[in-house]
Amino acid sequence: MPIQKSGAIILRSQALRETSLILTFYTEGFGKINGIVRGVRGPHAQYGGGSLEIFAHDEIIFYERKKSDIFTVSQCDLIEFFNPIRQSLERLAYASYMAELLDSVTSPGDKNAEVFFLLLNSLKLLSGESSARRVARIFEIKLLNLLGLMPTLGTCANCGNKTDMPVKFSVIQGGLICKNCLGADKNAMSILPGTVKFIEHIRGSSFERVARLKVVSSVGKELEAILRKFLDYHIERRLKSLEFLKEIEK
Ligand SMILES: [Zn+2]
Repeated sequence: MPIQKSGAIILRSQALRETSLILTFYTEGFGKINGIVRGVRGPHAQYGGGSLEIFAHDEIIFYERKKSDIFTVSQCDLIEFFNPIRQSLERLAYASYMAELLDSVTSPGDKNAEVFFLLLNSLKLLSGESSARRVARIFEIKLLNLLGLMPTLGTCANCGNKTDMPVKFSVIQGGLICKNCLGADKNAMSILPGTVKFIEHIRGSSFERVARLKVVSSVGKELEAILRKFLDYHIERRLKSLEFLKEIEK
C-alpha cells in the first residue's frame, strides 16, 4: 500500500515509550486503523493544536510498516477539535462511549465510509445543544443498521410471522417475538409500540432529520434499556466508558 491520506477520527490513544503514541483511528477511506505517531513530546515535538487528542477529526497521512499491521502516521492535521464536548463531563462521557462502542464492534480493515460519517455527525451534534442521550441512541441504532446487526422488527424473530401487538423484545432471538413465541425467551422484555416506531424511524431517516427528533421519556428510557441489553449481548467485552456514564447520570 503506497502512502495514503484520509480523514480520520481518533478513537483511542496509548503511549508508546516516551515520545510516541499508538492511536486507533476510524478513517473515511480505510475503516479502523492503528498507527504510530512519533515525536509527540520533547524539544522536537511537531504536533500542536490538539490533533492527537481523542475524538479529534484530522487529516492523516500514513503508510504501511514492514511485517506489522500498525501503520506509521507521518502527518496528523487537525480539522475539528469539538471543543464543547471537552468542556462538559456529560458530553465527554457520551463521546467516549460512542468511540469505545465503535472500536469494540469493528475490526481493522473493515471499510465503511458511512460509519465514519455517522461518528463525525454524531460528534458534531454532541458539540451543539442536542441532548447527549438522544445523540447516543441515534448513534447506536444507525451503527447497528450500518453494520448489519439491526434487530428484527417487522416480523417475529423466532417464527417469521408478522408481529401484531402485544409483542416482546428478545435479545437472544435478535428482535421482536410474537405472542405465540413468547416461550422462546422467558427473559424477553416488554416494548411499547412507540419504541418500535422510534427505532424504525431513526433507521429509515437521514441523520439531519432524526437529529431534531424529540422523544417522550417513557420511550427514551425503554429504548435505552433495550439497546443496552442488545448491544451488550453482541459485544464481548464490558465497555469501560459505561461505568463513567453511570457515574455521570446518577
Ligand atoms: Zn413468532
